[in-house]
Amino acid sequence: MDSINLEAVRDEDFLRTVEKESGQNLSRCYQCGKCTAGCPCGPAYDMQVSQVMRAIQLGDKQAVFEAASPWLCVSCSTCTARCPNEIDVARVMDTVRHMNRREGGKHPTLNAFWDSFLKTVRLSGRAYELGVMALYMLRTGKVLTDMDLAPRIMPKRKLPFVPHVIRGKAAVGRIFKRFHDLRMDG
Ligand code: SF4
Ligand code: SF4
Repeated sequence: MDSINLEAVRDEDFLRTVEKESGQNLSRCYQCGKCTAGCPCGPAYDMQVSQVMRAIQLGDKQAVFEAASPWLCVSCSTCTARCPNEIDVARVMDTVRHMNRREGGKHPTLNAFWDSFLKTVRLSGRAYELGVMALYMLRTGKVLTDMDLAPRIMPKRKLPFVPHVIRGKAAVGRIFKRFHDLRMDG
């Protein structure tokens, strides 16, 4: 990643909001790097998890919101388990994702992916991989994205042509509506 831009305009409320919504005291982070050392997604991250923590401390909202890392985090909680200061780091990553989405999503490609993913969940009650791919391609124009993986995935039946609609689809729809209403209220 690029180094954190200390000259950037800091969002004074950013740190306070992350702390409030995650319930974590981020001033306890002393950058030991244990979270980063154990993170299985580190090789794919453009900003390591300890760097995300530092950027939040500095109020560098732009850097955090533009990073792909919080979206690639698989919520395994290894970082939380390893933190010597008992910071729930995974929860902080989750909080950052929520805040980013609430503010419209500052990472266009990943936002397009999540919108596509959530739309299929809303329609059928669970993820429909082929639908996610089609919607993602429509939204981004990246029509050849990961096409090279198709010959390996298709024989394993990982990409059903027809969505599997679950019985509890209506309940899933109500969850979406509740969160939509909450967002509107907020
Ligand atoms: S929860 Fe996310 S950031 Fe933490 S170790 Fe797992 S993948 Fe990495
Ligand atoms: S393990 Fe905890 S104290 Fe160490 S860098 Fe990560 S969040 Fe900060």
